Amino acid sequence: MADYQTVDHDVLVIGAGGAGLRAAIAASGAGVSVGLVCKSLLGKAHTVMAEGGVAAALGNVDNRDGWQVHFADTMRGGQYVNNWRMAELHAREAPDRVRELEAWGALFDRTADGRILQRNFGGHKYPRLAHVGDRTGLEMIRTLQDHSIHQGIDVHMECTLLRLFTDSGRVAGALAYDRERGRFRLFRAKAVVLATGGIGRAYSITSNSWEYTGDGQALAYEAGAALQDMEFVQFHPTGMIWPPSVRGILVTEGVRGEGGILVNRHGRRFMFDEIPENYRSQTADSEEEGWRYTQGDKSARRPPELLTRDHVARCILREVREGRGSPHGGVLLDISWIKQRLPDARKHIIRKLPSMYHQFKQLADIDITTTPMEVGPTTHYIMGGIRVDGDTQSSTLPGLFAAGECAAGLHGANRLGGNSLSDLLVFGKRAGEFAAAFARENGLAEIDPEQVDETARAALAPFERGPGNDGQGPYQVQQDLQTMMQDLVGIVRTEAEMKRALEEISRLRERARSVAVAGNREYNPGWHTALDLGNLLTVSEAIARAAIERKESRGGHFREDYPEKDPAGATFNIVIRKGPDGQMRLAREPIREMPAELKKIVEEQK
Ligand SMILES: Cc1cc2nc3c(=O)[nH]c(=O)nc-3n(C[C@H](O)[C@H](O)[C@H](O)COP(=O)(O)OP(=O)(O)OC[C@H]3O[C@@H](n4cnc5c(N)ncnc54)[C@H](O)[C@@H]3O)c2cc1C
Repeated sequence: MADYQTVDHDVLVIGAGGAGLRAAIAASGAGVSVGLVCKSLLGKAHTVMAEGGVAAALGNVDNRDGWQVHFADTMRGGQYVNNWRMAELHAREAPDRVRELEAWGALFDRTADGRILQRNFGGHKYPRLAHVGDRTGLEMIRTLQDHSIHQGIDVHMECTLLRLFTDSGRVAGALAYDRERGRFRLFRAKAVVLATGGIGRAYSITSNSWEYTGDGQALAYEAGAALQDMEFVQFHPTGMIWPPSVRGILVTEGVRGEGGILVNRHGRRFMFDEIPENYRSQTADSEEEGWRYTQGDKSARRPPELLTRDHVARCILREVREGRGSPHGGVLLDISWIKQRLPDARKHIIRKLPSMYHQFKQLADIDITTTPMEVGPTTHYIMGGIRVDGDTQSSTLPGLFAAGECAAGLHGANRLGGNSLSDLLVFGKRAGEFAAAFARENGLAEIDPEQVDETARAALAPFERGPGNDGQGPYQVQQDLQTMMQDLVGIVRTEAEMKRALEEISRLRERARSVAVAGNREYNPGWHTALDLGNLLTVSEAIARAAIERKESRGGHFREDYPEKDPAGATFNIVIRKGPDGQMRLAREPIREMPAELKKIVEEQK
């Protein structure tokens, strides 16, 4: 019999980033008891790393903005495979969620007349991102945390979920282990909200921190919920590339929003070379016009550096592949050039981009006010994830809800920058409210003690094998998976390579089954890595299978063997469920037709 402590909550929220905190606040506000579980310390979620800002059509800087424009931008950016209902709710509700954050104490940069300042970002027609310099995520987490601790929420820090349990087709609870002592904790809950963030650690070059191993997506799938659109992984165009120890760390799009330009090794501003047809009418014709746009001239159109991330990343890759890259295999991002235009450029850059200034100074010994940065694409975000209902955030498994990066739908094939932080607020709140409603209508379900024992035994198995018992270490398996995904299921994909990836994944699964760890259960990172492997392998397989199935190029998914967009590709989502034989089953699920009034908005904004 496994030894574990049992804890009961009406609603259990897994993840304490923006989505989890907002869900916990909403559920607790609805009068149910809430437990909030997170893998690391409270306040250290991914959300804290967000730099550029939160997108909301407040219209403070340009009063032509409104929810309709934000909706149309999100759909165009996502290339029309978005869940349009989510895109509509998101655009309508984001302004209120941002104002609410302000009312709870969040400080934003200000316009001259004291309103929340908004900045330009890729794919957004008007300046839309409310921000605090380039530390917006920190402000968001701080505010949500301050607010949540007054709500009587029970927080379980450094506690990692291992498995979700079901009973008669609904969620019943979860088993976790605490990282400090390595002891098991069984949560019984009437409803569970997954808010576990992304999958970046499935790749070797990533802006994501160690926590993002696709746990929520994998746990939901194993419990019987459906995944959607896992092929859509976002490779952010600008990650640091030198020195090697910092490769992948994000360079915010805010640099380009403030006037930063991309040039190749010959100093040529290559982004003007290829403008996608559906953005041509919104893109500047000249460098002069692009600069005026970044300075708030309402008659100017955006510079091509502010096209969507999928496109910018591919243009960078093209420069590198065709031999015009920077010395370490990227391109140059230059904000220092604005001194030709602004008298106090140095002060301006440091004030608007303080973290970028320090990041490059401290990690690369580069002063961005005088020297261009070397940048290249980095795995940043997954648009796919747990399939949810747009209004309630309910997954396909009753009682299980999902919000934030681990849920799918809002962003379609490509996420616009700033749309994640607003996603967390809008759909975190909705998930918390609907989970609370579910909990009020349903009692606790039964958890089979056999299944708890089996999960605990499997979790402890790497200790039994022991290093002397022919077992291999978990880090090597993790690293081999990351390198393989980077090489075979990365920015540019082909069927042959992805089929090889699937073969590699099955070999890696075998190896993962025999990993061994030394030491004891107290704070043992080797053991934690061994336990993450199963989730990483599940999400990697889902990404590869969905990417093979989508035989076209769209958004973050680029197939060298199918380089064009197929109009039929905008009519379905790829949904993955676990079959009765334990294997992944893929289906093309038709996208519901958009109501006429939303279609009209899309047309009008073209
Ligand atoms: C460097 C960087 C900059 C970014 N800048 C922006 C920006 O300016 N604007 C924008 O909109 N987006 C930005 N993004 C994206 C955005 O920050 C994330 O998509 C978003 O914060 C995800 O929030 P979340 O609440 O879904 O999950 P996260 O904030 O990722 O939190 C996930 C939580 O789940 C917990 N967790 C995970 N697995 C488990 C488990 N098994 N058991 C228990 N707990 C678990 C983690 O501990 C954590 O608490 C940025 C991302 C990065 C990396």
